[in-house]
Amino acid sequence: MIDTYRHKGLRKQLVEELRAKGIKDETVLNAILSVPRHFFLDAVFTEQAYSNMPFQIGAGQTISHPYTVAFQTELLQLKKGDRVLEIGTGSGFQTAILCEVGAKVFSIERQRELFLKANRIVPKLGYNAKIKYGDGYKGWPSFGPFDKIIVTCGAPFIPEDLVAQLKPGGIMVIPIGAGKEQEMLLIKKDQDGSFAQSKLGFFSFVPMLKETSK
Ligand code: SAH
Repeated sequence: MIDTYRHKGLRKQLVEELRAKGIKDETVLNAILSVPRHFFLDAVFTEQAYSNMPFQIGAGQTISHPYTVAFQTELLQLKKGDRVLEIGTGSGFQTAILCEVGAKVFSIERQRELFLKANRIVPKLGYNAKIKYGDGYKGWPSFGPFDKIIVTCGAPFIPEDLVAQLKPGGIMVIPIGAGKEQEMLLIKKDQDGSFAQSKLGFFSFVPMLKETSK
């Protein structure tokens, strides 16, 4: 796969589109400019890879809209070296964006086929995220606690294990809702262990499912 000047030009346009939609964090916009999204998609989608659209990535799942990726990443207020747990690796694009902004990323995917693909492409691009095949509801306690947690599938409720693995002072971004639409929640865990929640609009994610597939 090659990353051409044309692809780079298309990424520049995408960044301007995201800026116009309200994304302000320059480190997030720079990450979108740097990560070749077309590498994470089937070759048939290469031409459209930089439009603000979701695409099928296999196993009935979709890569998130670039706007959603940028929006969730911005909410995490990442600092270099932050330990970030991602639930729903999917294509690995969001994983790469988190690495690009300097986070130490731990990502879980429940579809074996997608886990295998992402676990190839992410290191191939030079990012050293730790990716595992497993159930995101349980989090990844042996690598926790985490400064930040990002869930990229629609959760029917806030999983207790994830809350427990968030550091005091930590932030979790999670779309909540069992139907077609989910409400984006920003959860802040205070130093004393109490929580503050803000609601940040409606999005449409694939559902967060129980257990792993075969
Ligand atoms: N960030 C990804 C989003 C992919 S869609 C991207 O942009 O490509 C969400 C992903 O969450 C899907 O790949 C789906 O298989 C995964 N998922 C659903 N339920 C899960 C669970 N319980 N644990 C881990 N991953 C899960």
